[in-house]
Amino acid sequence: VFTAEILSVGDELLIGKTTNTNLTWLSGQLTHLGGIVRRGLTVRDEISEISEALTLILGRKPDAVIISGGLGPTFDDKTLQGIAHNLGLCLRVDRRALDLVKERVGELNPGRLKMAHLPEGSRALRNPKGTAPGVYLTVGKVHLFALPGVPSEMRAIFKNSVVSLLGKELPLGFFYEASLLSSGIPESKMAPIISEGMAQFPEVYIKSHPLGMEKGRPKIILHITSQTNEVAVQEAREMLRARVKRSGGIVASP
Ligand code: ATP
Ligand code: MG
Repeated sequence: VFTAEILSVGDELLIGKTTNTNLTWLSGQLTHLGGIVRRGLTVRDEISEISEALTLILGRKPDAVIISGGLGPTFDDKTLQGIAHNLGLCLRVDRRALDLVKERVGELNPGRLKMAHLPEGSRALRNPKGTAPGVYLTVGKVHLFALPGVPSEMRAIFKNSVVSLLGKELPLGFFYEASLLSSGIPESKMAPIISEGMAQFPEVYIKSHPLGMEKGRPKIILHITSQTNEVAVQEAREMLRARVKRSGGIVASP
């Protein structure tokens, strides 16, 4: 198990133009690797905002930090400047980053050269779906990754490079999950059933998500998860199924 934080960078996220699907995707990936994502923070494309966010995040000393957005060729992509400013590092042409950029494009121009300027001590990560390389940096014991905002590029670098680098450095784990759809039991009556389940299966976390009413009956999804015990997840599901039925509810899913 390890702890992680996610920093999303981009004006478009804070003017309501783009939905932060990177946060959702990264949260799911990190959770399934055995990580506990403690926070997700979103800031604008401003060096001071990025730097201040990093001060807060690094102060909490998570094992991993994933930043997405702002690595592109244009002047408004400032993530690496924000990182460099925060850590007191220079941005320098990085040999490997330059090679990776050249692999993708025919000739260099100022924008492309910008993407090869990394904070000193970084490692450039190959971007199989675009030009801007990802960036890996360790700050004390914190493993910090900066990935492009374009979802396909962010995902590809995460899968190809970030997972294995994290695996080398941190104790990865598992994430087991199951769900149950209940109908006819209101959330207030479900609460004691959930408490009972969590008391009986301490390694399991149970959360209810109300889906509203259907034909006058409250529908609730129960999400049952554990990062340590796969068998307990299934046992908890059986226990919940029996208790819902006994309380007069209908279990709608198998
Ligand atoms: P580019 O080289 O395209 O400039 P970049 O690394 O600078 O890449 P951004 O400029 O931050 O990335 O975003 C590029 C595109 O990716 C934007 O059009 C934006 O809509 C999308 N995007 C950025 N951040 C996110 C996010 N958190 N979730 C979903 N989409 C995003
Ligand atoms: Mg951009």
